[in-house]
Amino acid sequence: MFVRIIPLPRRVGAVVLPNDDGTYDVYISSHLDQKQREQKLAHELRHVAGEHFYRDIDVTLAEAEAGSGCAETGRRRKKGRKEQRS
Ligand SMILES: [Zn+2]
Repeated sequence: MFVRIIPLPRRVGAVVLPNDDGTYDVYISSHLDQKQREQKLAHELRHVAGEHFYRDIDVTLAEAEAGSGCAETGRRRKKGRKEQRS
């Protein structure tokens, strides 16, 4: 697992992408300041710790478990899960 600070679309604070080997990579937006980056990282790590990627739970519930919302990562997560099944 690694964390990278990269330019992301402004409405996206951070994304987590699961790898085939079961690890995760976290991408944090370079537009955020240091404090926001730390908060986003902590939030995304709570998704990982909660195994939200492998539980068939509602995105809204996953966000509630992880703390403050980030609907963008929820959509990406759902899309990725469908692709793995097909
Ligand atoms: Zn989230």
